[in-house]
Amino acid sequence: MASTSKDARINIVGAGIFGLSTALHLARRGYKNVTVFDKQPYDDTEYSYSKGCDAASADMNKIIRTAYGSQVEYQEMGFEAIEIWKEWNAELADGQDLPPGLTSSDRVFVNCGSLSFTDSEELHPFEIATIKTMESQGHKDTQLVTNDPRHVAIAKSRGQEGACDPFHRRKRGKSSLGVLDSSGGVTIADKACRFALHKARQLGANFVLDPVAGAFDSFMLSSLGRVQGAKTKDGKSHKAELTIMACGGLTPSLVPELDGLCEATGGSVVIYKIPKSSSLWDRTSPENFPTWLWNMRSGAEGGLYGFPRTDEGFIKVGYRGTKYTNPRTQDDGQQRSVPITRWSGKETGEELQQIPVQAMRVIRGFLDEYLPELGEEGIDVALTRVCWYTDTFDNHFVVDHVPSKEGLFVVTGGSGHAFKYLPNIGNWIVDVIEGVQTDRPAIKAWKWRGSQAETSVNVLMEGSQGSRALDNVQLVGKNREERAKL
Ligand SMILES: Cc1cc2nc3c(=O)[nH]c(=O)nc-3n(C[C@H](O)[C@H](O)[C@H](O)COP(=O)(O)OP(=O)(O)OC[C@H]3O[C@@H](n4cnc5c(N)ncnc54)[C@H](O)[C@@H]3O)c2cc1C
Repeated sequence: MASTSKDARINIVGAGIFGLSTALHLARRGYKNVTVFDKQPYDDTEYSYSKGCDAASADMNKIIRTAYGSQVEYQEMGFEAIEIWKEWNAELADGQDLPPGLTSSDRVFVNCGSLSFTDSEELHPFEIATIKTMESQGHKDTQLVTNDPRHVAIAKSRGQEGACDPFHRRKRGKSSLGVLDSSGGVTIADKACRFALHKARQLGANFVLDPVAGAFDSFMLSSLGRVQGAKTKDGKSHKAELTIMACGGLTPSLVPELDGLCEATGGSVVIYKIPKSSSLWDRTSPENFPTWLWNMRSGAEGGLYGFPRTDEGFIKVGYRGTKYTNPRTQDDGQQRSVPITRWSGKETGEELQQIPVQAMRVIRGFLDEYLPELGEEGIDVALTRVCWYTDTFDNHFVVDHVPSKEGLFVVTGGSGHAFKYLPNIGNWIVDVIEGVQTDRPAIKAWKWRGSQAETSVNVLMEGSQGSRALDNVQLVGKNREERAKL
């Protein structure tokens, strides 16, 4: 693409954060012929899960953090993103030329802090590495240890005192050791996507957001196998010099070359609705309560994270201690995990409203101990959701041309941590598209790569016999009687 003119036609399939950010930054760099296709009619459904959106990016909130252990490249990208998140907030507050549904009182980022804690009396090596890496990069005192009085005083001076002990552990005489990443917080994910879509449009990117006209059907191939564009479900052909696949959890089934590198895995989510009269209403507001991660590196019995309440009073708790799969045999005879969701029935005939029992057990056990007020006040589960990651074996993204498929590029493999980069990752992706020479470690890590079992963080493609396949696990939903039996 280095020599491709700015008039070249570029198709992007998928308007999640990877597709949106790529479109935004291509348009910003002057590419005039960028079209994004998505089967979700996002202008109507507004990236809202309750309106039928089931992409990973279509969510009420996501965690923003810069704490990344020793991974300095993701840390620094996080700081870069946060500066732009703040600019987006300022643009919203300015109120000029906002898209329908967004007002000047909306914000897409709240700097409420992101607390990582365990039930241990000692800091995890990941937190120690984060503190060290932050200091080495000049970000001293961004990571605040919650039992250090000096750090708690710093948090107080930044309006984040509540974030140091959001579960009132100290008040209850219990251990509360953790690290507050004071640079982080929460993004209002659906609104952020709507704003990014609007910004990309303003800069001239085109969007076809429609269940038929926007739905990818197949690649247009030359006799030599070069990808020359994409066909959509309405039968139309869309010729392009470059086709960029950004289909989230569906990318591995649409680009089978990703076998062994990427797989769709399901994270479990439980949502509670807090009434305004609850003692938790003020306490869990983004002004007083951080995003949090608990026992993230403790296997199946840990891996929880959560959020301050939304404006509507929703409190979301997620479990990723075990990530589940949904292997289905595809036309080429290979099993690949495909997302199954509350809304997938219309397309695939299979839908899912429940979550695995294991996830519900860990979440409930945590909440009974850490947020007993939910049970005491009779606040019950409002909704359960399985939300689909696109995991790589090493947790690095995939941003590269597909080898031996000229004309085809993928931006995927979010591995549970890409949302925070919505404002800036497209800029890095366009560098890769343009072949800009760089020694940035992140860009190198995102290159196409084979599977390396010995360095794998995630085990991929265990297939239908695997213990994480949803067909092999017991499920439970919001039904109170079913949950009472667990
Ligand atoms: C449970 C969970 C929690 C997470 N928490 C965080 C967090 O706290 N912080 C963070 O930074 N990141 C988080 N992530 C990661 C982040 O959400 C993802 O990395 C990111 O949203 C992935 O974006 P995407 O564009 O790759 O995919 P998606 O958001 O899934 O978007 C893919 C798009 O492709 C479209 N599409 C698919 N197939 C077709 C087709 N055939 N034709 C047309 N369009 C198609 C879909 O409709 C969709 O709009 C989390 C992810 C999950 C699953």
